[in-house]
Order: sequence, then C-alpha cells, then structure tokens
Amino acid sequence: MRTWPYPNEMENREDLECDVLVLGAGVSGCFAAIAAAQNGQKVILVEKGSVIHSGAAGTGFDHWESACTNPCSNVTPEEIAEAYVDEQDHYSNGIAHYIECREGYDRLVDLEAWGGKIRDTEGEFAGADFRDETTGLLFAYDYANKFTLRVWGSTFKPVLLKRLRQLGVRILERTEACSLLTEHRDGKMRGTGALCMNVRTAKISVIKARTTVLAMSRPARIWLFDPDMMGLSEFRPPQCIGTGHAMGWRAGMEFTMMEKSVKAEFSAAGRSFPPYSTGNNHNTWYAATMVDARGQEIPYVDRDGKELTSVRERYYPAKGQKFFLKGGVIDDPKYAYRGPETLPFDELMRRGYKLPFYADLSRMPEMERKAIWGLMVGEEGKTKIPVYRSLSERGFDPERHMLQSYGNGWQSASFLDQERQLFGAPGGVITDWDLKTSIDGVYACGDMLYAMDCAGAACATGHYAGRKAAEASKTMSHGTVSEAYIQNEIDRLYAPLRKEDGMDWRELNKAIAKAMQNYCGGVKNDALLEQGIALLQQYRTEAVPQLYAANPHELSRVHEVLDILDVSEMILEACRMRRASCAPLNFVRSDSDASKTDAEHCYITIHQENGQVMRKEVPLDFFGNLKEEYEKHNPEVHA
Ligand SMILES: Cc1cc2nc3c(=O)[nH]c(=O)nc-3n(C[C@H](O)[C@H](O)[C@H](O)COP(=O)(O)OP(=O)(O)OC[C@H]3O[C@@H](n4cnc5c(N)ncnc54)[C@H](O)[C@@H]3O)c2cc1C
Repeated sequence: MRTWPYPNEMENREDLECDVLVLGAGVSGCFAAIAAAQNGQKVILVEKGSVIHSGAAGTGFDHWESACTNPCSNVTPEEIAEAYVDEQDHYSNGIAHYIECREGYDRLVDLEAWGGKIRDTEGEFAGADFRDETTGLLFAYDYANKFTLRVWGSTFKPVLLKRLRQLGVRILERTEACSLLTEHRDGKMRGTGALCMNVRTAKISVIKARTTVLAMSRPARIWLFDPDMMGLSEFRPPQCIGTGHAMGWRAGMEFTMMEKSVKAEFSAAGRSFPPYSTGNNHNTWYAATMVDARGQEIPYVDRDGKELTSVRERYYPAKGQKFFLKGGVIDDPKYAYRGPETLPFDELMRRGYKLPFYADLSRMPEMERKAIWGLMVGEEGKTKIPVYRSLSERGFDPERHMLQSYGNGWQSASFLDQERQLFGAPGGVITDWDLKTSIDGVYACGDMLYAMDCAGAACATGHYAGRKAAEASKTMSHGTVSEAYIQNEIDRLYAPLRKEDGMDWRELNKAIAKAMQNYCGGVKNDALLEQGIALLQQYRTEAVPQLYAANPHELSRVHEVLDILDVSEMILEACRMRRASCAPLNFVRSDSDASKTDAEHCYITIHQENGQVMRKEVPLDFFGNLKEEYEKHNPEVHA
C-alpha cells in the first residue's frame, strides 16, 4: 500500500455480534436503529460515511410530505396514501405510503423531542397564510389541507446521532457494508448478518445478527457518470449507488419495477446546475412568480387550465378538487391530483413569451418570499452552503434580484432519451406488511423500497422496519455464517488492492454507463438487452480483474462500481422479463408483445436462484385494504 494517513489494517478481521444489524445510516437507517434499540435490542449501525451528515437528507430537506395526522391536517392517511397509489396507476408502494401517512407525523414529533426544529417557535412567519398560529406549524403547497409541512431539515441528522448515542447503539462509521450473509434453513433463505469493510483502514468486520435492516438507498450512476464532477453526478449523494440492491440481488432477494427508469432530470452527470440553485417553480421554489426576458409574468394555471390571477390561489386546490399532491414523488402528475402549474413550454412559446425566464420573488408577498428564499432554499438538501450562503454572500437579494431559469425546457438541462436515471419513484425491494424482504430476517426501509422517494417516508418506514426487526429478533437464534463464503468475499473485495497497477474505477463506471445507454435506453428490445447483458459479462471477465485501488478509499470506490455492474445486470434482466410496453413504468419495447399487455398489468418481481433469474407476477394491489391490513399487522400500536 502507498502512503496513507490511516493505519493499514488490511487482512485484519474482527467478529461482532448483535441482535439487530442496520446497514446504512441515512434518516431511515437511524430511525431503524433507534426503534430497535428502544425495543431493548443490541444494535449495530454501519455507515459508509459519517452519520452526522450522511445520506440524501444529511444536509437537510425543506418539506415533510404526508404529515396527515398533524393537528391541523384536513386529510386522512387513507386519502393521501390511496392518492399516491392511484397517481402512479397502482405501480406504487401502498404499504410504505400508508406507513408514511399514518406514522410520519409521529416521527416528526420524535425529532422535535430530540432537539430538531419542526415549527416556527420564534414567530418569524407570524400572520402568514401558511402558519398555524396555535401550533406554529408551517405548511407547504396545499394550504387548504395542511398535510405537507415546511421543516428545518438540516437540524435532523445531528439529533438522530445524539439519540443513537443515548440509546447505546454501536456505530461503525466509515465502514461499507459489502455482502449479506445468509444460510438455508428449513427450506428457507435466512439472513445471518453482513460482511463490512472500513473504508480508511480496510479492516474487515464480520457481523452476525439475528435480524438485519437494509437502509442503503437506491442505485445511481447507472446510465450517467461524470468522473470530473462527481459531486454533481447525481441528484442524490453520488456514493449511494445501490449497494443494498446489489448485495440483495447476489443473495437472491426479490425486487420489483427495476425495469422502470425515467429520462434523466436535473443534476445528472454534471450537466445541470446544483439542485435548486436556479430560478424555477419546482418543489423548493414552489410557487415562485416566473417572468420572461421582458419581465412579463407567466401565469399559473390550475388543474382545469384556469389561469390564476393572484399568488394566493397557487396554494389552494381548484374548485371542486379536494386536495392536490406536490413535492417529490410525482413522476407524471395526473389530472385528478394536479396542482397549479405554469403552462407547458410549447404553449408559452406560442403565446410569445421570450427566453430566458426568471424567478422573481420580489413580486411575491413578503412571507412567501421569505419562505422560499431562506427557509426552503436554505433547508433543502445541498442548498444551505452552496446555494443560500454562496449567493447571499455574493449579494443576491430576493427583494431586488431575479434568478435565471436555464435550459431549453427552461426548468433544467435537457437530456437524451437514452440518458436515464432511477428518479422519482423507481423500483426496489418488495416486502410484506412487516417490511420484511423475501429473505427471512432481512428487512428494508426508506429509498431501498420500491416506489419510495421522500424523507418522511424514510423516517416512518425506518422506524417501522426497526420495530419489526426487533420483534422478530426476540424470537430468533443466531444463524450460521459460512467461512468459505467469507473468505471468497474477502478475496474478491481485496483483489484490486493486492495489485501493483491497473484500471481505475472511473473507467469501468463510464463504460457501464455507456453500455446502459446503448443497450437499455429509452426503447428496449430483446436483441439490445441480450447484447447489453453479454457486454456486462465481458466487463466481468475482462475489465474487473484489471481493477486497481491505491488505498482503502479507492478500494471502496471500486466496490461501488462492482455493485453498479450487478445492479445494471439486474435492470437489464428486469427489462427482459417484461414482454409488453408499460406506460406507467415508462417502459417501451420496439418488440412489445401486445398479447401480454393485460396479463402483465401487475408487478413483475425478479430474483436469482442458483444462478438463474426467476420471474414472478404479483397483483398490483397485493397489499390489500391499506387501513385494515395496517391495523391487522400492528395491533399493539393502534389497539
Ligand atoms: C437534494 C435533495 C433534496 C431532497 N429534498 C427532500 C425534501 O424536501 N423532502 C423529502 O421528503 N425528501 C427530500 N429528498 C429525498 C430524501 O432526502 C430521501 O428520500 C431520504 O433521505 C431517503 O432516506 P434513506 O435513509 O432511505 O437514504 P439516504 O438518506 O440516502 O441514506 C442512505 C445511507 O446509506 C449509506 N450507505 C450507502 N451505501 C452504503 C454501504 N455500502 N454501507 C454502509 N452505508 C451505506 C449512505 O452513506 C447514506 O448515509 C431530497 C433528496 C435530495 C437528494
């Protein structure tokens, strides 16, 4: 090994044991570990980065969706969870959404109890239309129904860390989870722990656990990767690349909707500006006044196409509409739940509006301006330092200045059809009502679950999975771990560090991205998919043995790319398994088999068994009536 500031612990191994093992300490993993520890279990939490700010919500987030049980809410958990399911044509995670809607607000109250900020305690927004004067809660988007809260998300990760410490959770930071340990017992596959590696010292930890919770977010850097602008490669943290998916896939776990992808959106491959750093009216910037190059205001319209004449109307449902959804999970907003949006770009051009466009907060009421610039831009992920502080220090004053909106689609950079992402509500792990995966004793939460996308859902499902894993752990004994498997894995993981020279991880990541663009782009067919699988196989035999790492940090980057290779293969296989095009999944085949369209109006799950890819069909609403099933599975909570 070359000079490296940390001890060289390569070939060192420690063996640990716990009741509940949690892999990944974003908001979902932290909540899982807290819930398991509160249930009296001995918990180990493994995090590749540093818990205090790791994960997509590590630097904050500005709105908490689906706080349906907050004291001011005018909607029920059933209404919003069912709307989320309908809105995605039922290709949606009813279980996780219901947990989010039913328990999400409880988790927010937990965060407040531990020191997080969830309400306007100083009266900074006193008198604002979006503030409840009794509770100090601030609402976003739909001011009539009050189920989305504006929050101080940057305060949350530090208090989660404090709580973990209070509860005595053992935290292994700078430690990557690499492989699931499993055993076959009584005809079932069961999780028995995980193999992990310190990304500074290369020390191996073999952790035996009765139950395991996966909380490592979703895949990224599959179709798009910019080695020169790693930080801007993805909307989410670029080191969250789907290791949980990869290790689950290798172990035989079931996944669904992995054939779903969308044409890339903002902040992909360094092609667009940092999220929320430009003037627009998306999420954080909703409902900023937009103007064209001449200062002409661009109107908002409601779901019925009616042009709105006041700023206030932008925050209320249309006449006859109960509520509207906004803020994150909506891939393709459907009419029934659409909020007031600006007109489509083509229509704007037809009407003579001139580019460039700008967000002009100076034309908004003071409270709305302050809510966008300062609270929302400031608390949103990645905005506090690079956007809010940088622009403020350089003199940006929202009372006087406008912020330009870029791109020929005017909201952000535009991409080619083959430049894709797992964005919005993509595929992932499918679970039962306990959030247990197809592997006994292994649970999943947050963005690892299929069709998940937001922080409130991550906190709620994390807590829920931790609770369920803790209950199960009390009834389970430790399983066995295979020493032969562990040794094979250690050899696989260390191989690039045992070499003198070789291929850089970036080269393979870029090659995979190119392969996925060419063979798994906007339009698929069998010939392309098979060539894609063959090419990835060729990378395995020819490129992988050449990979080289100079130190444990680089080694962890190599491991990421190996996982990206596995996830890419899973995506190609998932695409092969769906025979007919499917609009809700943005899945288009040039050789679509029309005779399968109706039969395939279901989830297709895939998993590996003895090296073979297995396919199953699961009915879309397999989760049943959300309220009834939830209450059946949680009698102790809601007796
Ligand atoms: C810019 C931005 C703005 C957002 N704004 C909002 C918002 O306003 N409201 C909202 O509801 N949602 C928002 N989201 C989404 C929200 O942040 C995520 O849905 C949520 O954080 C998911 O939580 P998670 O715990 O599942 O994953 P993450 O928070 O991403 O955590 C995953 C954790 O796993 C760790 N990890 C990964 N691989 C390994 C490994 N191999 N071993 C060990 N650890 C590993 C990572 O380091 C990370 O800490 C935003 C996301 C982004 C990126």
